[in-house]
Amino acid sequence: MKFVSTRGSCAARSFSEIALEGMAPDGGLYVPESIPDFRPLLPSLLGLSWEDLAVKVMHAYADDLTELELRGLIRQAAATFSNSKVVPLVDIGPCRVLELFHGPTLAFKDVALQFLGALFEFLLARSGGRLNIVGATSGDTGSAAICALRGRARIGVTILHPEGRTSPLQRKQMTTVLDDNIHNLSVQGSFDDCQSLVKTLMNDLEFKEKHQLGAINSVNFARILAQIVYYFSAWSQAGGKPLSFVVPTGNFGDIYAGYLAARMGLPVRKLVLASNANDILPRFFSTGDYRRGQVHHTASPSMDIQVASNFERYLWHLQGGESTRALLEQFNRSGSLRVESPDPAGLFSAVSCDDAQTLQAVKEAHAQSGGYVLDPHTATAWHAARQTGHLGSDCVLLATAHPAKFPDTVREALPGVHPRHDILDRLETLPERCGRLANDLEALKDVVNRNAV
Ligand SMILES: *Cc1c(COP(=O)(O)O)cnc(C)c1O
Repeated sequence: MKFVSTRGSCAARSFSEIALEGMAPDGGLYVPESIPDFRPLLPSLLGLSWEDLAVKVMHAYADDLTELELRGLIRQAAATFSNSKVVPLVDIGPCRVLELFHGPTLAFKDVALQFLGALFEFLLARSGGRLNIVGATSGDTGSAAICALRGRARIGVTILHPEGRTSPLQRKQMTTVLDDNIHNLSVQGSFDDCQSLVKTLMNDLEFKEKHQLGAINSVNFARILAQIVYYFSAWSQAGGKPLSFVVPTGNFGDIYAGYLAARMGLPVRKLVLASNANDILPRFFSTGDYRRGQVHHTASPSMDIQVASNFERYLWHLQGGESTRALLEQFNRSGSLRVESPDPAGLFSAVSCDDAQTLQAVKEAHAQSGGYVLDPHTATAWHAARQTGHLGSDCVLLATAHPAKFPDTVREALPGVHPRHDILDRLETLPERCGRLANDLEALKDVVNRNAV
């Protein structure tokens, strides 16, 4: 399989190449040149273990690794999960829930990042290279990346978070990781300040080259690839019947993986996209108009995103390379773009959910399931499923985080319920290590110069 850039002006590359490279040099994202047809294979996939299923699905894209190499990486990643199915499908009564939160940081990003960590280490050992990750986080992504890359050879990690603006729980998930290659920095500024520091640093091509700087966000196709597997796993766990998936979405990453699964031939009835008050994607699917707005801070903070980075990939599948480049240039100039037919196959529904509806969804799901507790991100999926009339036994909500990660919102919806998890309880007593950083590019460069591998 070859991968090409959504902006259409780079040479086609192999999976190993694009996994280390992340973004394409023309500013686009890598997409698979074609989508493998899995329809003839479906019967042979039913009932496979996570590991066997993942090897089959991922090798169709990552075909420049041997199946044995790929299996080793998948096994390493799966071993960090506390559930042997990795992503168990649970029947809660009114619908099913695909629990994606059994990894070490209790959020779905572990599924992809644990694989990515193992993959990076393997590829760097083979090439003799090194990689320095610099990233900004408002919470979940940072802890999942730190956990996936801690202690790995040839990899350095520097993660910026806004001082005092992440929850104590989220901060501790990052700062209690004391491995030598992990560097947390609390920045005197907002999340946007953190992000713009990282962006500016990445645009300094000389500095980027000198330290082999890399990114961890979902622009990396290797992350998407690991996520395709759980759509197949849900289908297999449900006995092979067609399903609707309801997906809490920020960057269009998770649901893009579902789109590829459907295009590969997995029997998907509907992909229901659930957003919070940041509703750029629901507006796009109802009007064809993709228009930047203000970022709203909500009870589902990991989806507080206006411009969804993976959306560019969907545009490419819809429109092809030439037109995608033109549309994105227009978007970058004017803050909006328009597509005639946003969903030609009628695969998507899209619903946004405000904070009051999120709380109501936590309450309602708890009552109707006899006590199952949703985290606020997954609650947006419940709301979207109900709004679109999809609740039922062939409806799967993707549960993106464990409710104990967001105890305050859960308690607000369900007074008296205290979701907890051992992993989080243990953080209380662990020592923390964290540097402080002024909102200043030169100060960040100093730190990276000192800590780079
Ligand atoms: C990142 C995240 C999301 C959104 O995922 P995307 O891939 O950005 O669409 C949803 N829920 C949780 C808990 C997350 O951490």
